[in-house]
Amino acid sequence: MKVAVHWFRCDLRLSDNTALHAAVTASDAVVPVFIFDPKILTAPDVSPGQVAFMIECLRSLEKNIATAGGRLIFRHGPVLEEMRTVLREAGAKVLYYNRDYEPYARARDIAVEKLARSLGVEVHSYKDNVIHEPHEVLKADGSPYGVFTPYSRVWRSMAKPAVAPAVKFSHPTGLKWPPSLPLPSARELGFSVDVTLPPAGERAARDRLGEFASVDLLQYAKNRDFPARDATSRLSPHLRLGTLSPRTVFKAAEKAGLHHPDALASTDSLVSELIWRDFYRQILWHFPHVAGACFRPQYDALAWENDERLFAAWCAGRTGYPLVDAGMRQLNTTGWMHNRVRMVVAMFLTKDLLISWQWGERYFMQKLLDADLASNNGGWQWSAGTGTDAQPWFRIFNPSSQAQKFDPEGLYIHRYVPEADTLAYPAPIVDHSRQRLKTLALFRNRT
Ligand SMILES: Cc1cc2nc3c(=O)[nH]c(=O)nc-3n(C[C@H](O)[C@H](O)[C@H](O)COP(=O)(O)OP(=O)(O)OC[C@H]3O[C@@H](n4cnc5c(N)ncnc54)[C@H](O)[C@@H]3O)c2cc1C
Repeated sequence: MKVAVHWFRCDLRLSDNTALHAAVTASDAVVPVFIFDPKILTAPDVSPGQVAFMIECLRSLEKNIATAGGRLIFRHGPVLEEMRTVLREAGAKVLYYNRDYEPYARARDIAVEKLARSLGVEVHSYKDNVIHEPHEVLKADGSPYGVFTPYSRVWRSMAKPAVAPAVKFSHPTGLKWPPSLPLPSARELGFSVDVTLPPAGERAARDRLGEFASVDLLQYAKNRDFPARDATSRLSPHLRLGTLSPRTVFKAAEKAGLHHPDALASTDSLVSELIWRDFYRQILWHFPHVAGACFRPQYDALAWENDERLFAAWCAGRTGYPLVDAGMRQLNTTGWMHNRVRMVVAMFLTKDLLISWQWGERYFMQKLLDADLASNNGGWQWSAGTGTDAQPWFRIFNPSSQAQKFDPEGLYIHRYVPEADTLAYPAPIVDHSRQRLKTLALFRNRT
């Protein structure tokens, strides 16, 4: 009997799951496994909200697997040790998983692969988490792109991978199920969670996509930059944990574009966002130094002022700049922030408060339900002017004009900062025009 283990990581779904589909197609039985990795759970930048959301996604996955005839095995411990025992207990001949592009995951997966082969277990890994992998979209000379526009042109010209059907499990007699721990709660893992989670799991992700595709997607280009309109998909926590595949979102955009030719600008704009997602994954893959340093090394020596008092005010949403404060309060209370506002608060932290982008990057990682090293790092370095953008350090948003432009009636601001027009609201903690000049001088010294 050919038994395979499918190792779930950021692919918590049964439909359009490339490795799982391959495992089920090629094996007599598949044992699905999820390992709680202490290295990830004890990292200083882990987001308790994201852990809690992941647990709810796992709860739903466990049910869906049971309904499809299988059993999800939970383990908790050092990945190599757990994998060694699971492979042995299951009598596995093959290990399947979908590839991950973060430096820690890459090193871990190489070690697991070596271990499995030493046990006589074959290993098959698949592209799944992206539409195009880092090595697929390259310049003519084989080097990676560091700028988005030419990358996106090539990305768009390439044939797109197909969507795989949902799987069913078979468990022939004689199959040995490895022992499983009960699914822990976030509290049992040591986290206290203070945000209300959105609906979790594969069904919730599909429902959200369905709702979005039939209404907001059709006006996405016009509305996506206005935070009060709530007009974006809110799929980011799902795409992060893989309750939905990027291919499925891409196909939904394509289909909507075919049915509503007048909405092409909108569907195209959503595809652009999916390209940004792949783009930052390939940046992290080809330039892994970005995880701890500037994409452009000349900016590593920038003399940030790093004033802890200003940082605390920014974290708490008490800077005296209403759009910045609304964004930070949205983040603190919901675990999510609108993209336009992410750019505004990130630029404010770096270019108005002169605080290193790495402080903000860590705070976002600790708070976001969609916390994702590649996209977060990319977004922060873009905003700080240390990243992949072609010419950006001298682009400095004025937080007040951004509010006038993108929240003209103050609806978003008042949702999160109800006291914005009262005396209880703090005065601006810095003067934007002065800080802007300081930032320009800071960068000019390094350019
Ligand atoms: C400073 C900063 C930090 C960020 N940190 C993260 C993060 O940790 N995790 C994360 O998923 N996104 C991050 N983003 C990107 C973006 O803000 C979010 O993906 C988006 O706001 C999620 O909302 P949505 O699902 O409604 O997006 P939609 O507008 O509906 O877009 C659809 C999907 O495309 C992807 N996407 C959209 N915009 C981007 C982008 N600029 N870069 C990469 N992917 C994108 C997301 O997966 C998103 O779910 C960050 C952006 C900035 C400026």
